[in-house]
Amino acid sequence: EAVKPSNFLRAIIERDLEAGTYAQRPFAGSPGDAAHHAAGQPDPAQVRLRFPPEPNGYLHVGHAKSICLNFGLARDYGGVCHLRFDDTNPEKEEQEYVDAISEMVAWLGWDWNAHGVSHQFYASDYFDFMYQAAETLIQRGLAYVDEQTPEEMRANRGDFTTPGVDSPFRSRTPEENLARFREMRDGQHADGAMVLRAKIDMASPNINMRDPAIYRIRRATHHNTGDKWCIYPMYTFAHPIEDALERITHSICTLEFEDQRPFYDWLLENLADAGLLARPLPKQYEFGRLNLSYVITSKRKLKQLVDEKHVAGWDDPRMPTLAGMRRRGYTPAAIRKVADDSGASKTNVWLDYSVLDIALRADLEAKAPRAMAVIDPLKLKLTNFADVFGAAEHREPCSAPAHPHLPELGQRQFSLGPELWIEREDFMETPVKGYFRLFPGNKVRLKYGYVIECTGCEKNEAGEITAVTAQILPDTKSGTPGADSVKVKGVITWVGVHEAVACEMRLFDRLFTEAQPDAGGRDFLTVLNPNSKKVLRSYLEPSLAHAKPDDKFQFERHGYFVADRLDHSAALPVINRITTLKDGWAK
Ligand code: ATP
Ligand code: MG
Ligand code: MG
Repeated sequence: EAVKPSNFLRAIIERDLEAGTYAQRPFAGSPGDAAHHAAGQPDPAQVRLRFPPEPNGYLHVGHAKSICLNFGLARDYGGVCHLRFDDTNPEKEEQEYVDAISEMVAWLGWDWNAHGVSHQFYASDYFDFMYQAAETLIQRGLAYVDEQTPEEMRANRGDFTTPGVDSPFRSRTPEENLARFREMRDGQHADGAMVLRAKIDMASPNINMRDPAIYRIRRATHHNTGDKWCIYPMYTFAHPIEDALERITHSICTLEFEDQRPFYDWLLENLADAGLLARPLPKQYEFGRLNLSYVITSKRKLKQLVDEKHVAGWDDPRMPTLAGMRRRGYTPAAIRKVADDSGASKTNVWLDYSVLDIALRADLEAKAPRAMAVIDPLKLKLTNFADVFGAAEHREPCSAPAHPHLPELGQRQFSLGPELWIEREDFMETPVKGYFRLFPGNKVRLKYGYVIECTGCEKNEAGEITAVTAQILPDTKSGTPGADSVKVKGVITWVGVHEAVACEMRLFDRLFTEAQPDAGGRDFLTVLNPNSKKVLRSYLEPSLAHAKPDDKFQFERHGYFVADRLDHSAALPVINRITTLKDGWAK
């Protein structure tokens, strides 16, 4: 494997390993490790990272970046990466999403089992601890129950130019606050009537430090804890605690959390001072998000596409979800390559969508079997077939390697008959300049077959071309001594009508017509590409009769294709185009 280019995260981890920052940490038996390791045992990992999705939607290609970064660093430094469901927001979270997320992290090739145990965690398993932590802050005069209305709270928070104003409830005693907080927990107050806030500094230049809310009242059934709680911790309070309880060493997140870092440290330091958490504490580090052109990476917006039925579901092959990309035919190796190559930097990265196709081609070029497919079919009649071969029923065998560089994949067998399917674009009644394919009087080679000469075409009453006619030139078969006796400039692909495998061909294109669909607050629905999906009846060479769901192919001259993992069957083949052979807008 190639040497990994360094980045600031690697430098930090290497520094901490060298300094032994996280060496020799005994397990404390906290809720984050009780299920995994006994108290007192030394932690075998000096690098513990986590991928912490909220189970409120399907993972997208941006998440792949975070997954590959965290799991990749853990692998490279002998550490462990946790898969943690950050499920502290009961309204939006569902078991379906939990399952889909685990499935896709595994599909990408990562494993959260280490040292003989699974490192799959749920933030909601720490609700009891979080509640205790909140009471501890109250007792130490570091949190208070605020009964201002949300509007008052917003107004009194101030802004970048104005310091905030203290809440009239800020000076309550710990005893009063504790009583009130317990009433909140016991369901004695309405949703939204009051919140618990950290007591820090209403004049801080960092607005996140102006007494952030840490607990709210919300009567909602939680997918894991049911109706046990009617108060839930805020993300900014929950996340540092989750990290600390799981003994995370480096908490890697995206740049928008940079302003939260002072609160992350404030909270963990105070809980450690109170004896609730053991030092050394985790540290937060931020890196730039990965964005792809023509793609939206926001679960909320992707959910809107699904809910409003602009796509067929989360796994629609046009969706930038990992489930959609898998169905489209993108491989884990291609996605990992894009994620790895984008590195880790301190700025958000915009990559052109083509990087994904380039990575996909590089992966499949080396291993996908080849085949011929006629995507937009037109019939070709070989009018002298019976004369050349003695009978119209004759089938003239042809063959080709399944892969040009993998002889072990063997030969594909197919045959010529009197009627073939060819691409509609391979015939022009009146050719344009530089056109070398079929037109009356011109000769082309049928790939792996004979040279033929076009004699004309047939039309229906509407004047549409229904068939092309041609004559075989005997003794010009590929691979025979006469093959070079006639020089031609054009070679066309084909499939015999007598043995063609008919299929539903799904051709996909970009979902949006603008490179940054939601830039500048634009409603991304206004730039949906109306032509992002085209369905055709196409014909495949007979080797495709045995294709299984998820099998991938290179169709000569057309690109890379996959048998749809859900809809494909031998009886009703369904093929998706992953991408064309070269870059550019699909035709
Ligand atoms: P979304 O806005 O799509 O819901 P999120 O960040 O809110 O994204 P989470 O489920 O909280 O979604 O994300 C889990 C992890 O993935 C977080 O650490 C987050 O920073 C990271 N992540 C999300 N989107 C990207 C992206 N585009 N590039 C890199 N990392 C990302
Ligand atoms: Mg989030
Ligand atoms: Mg989000």
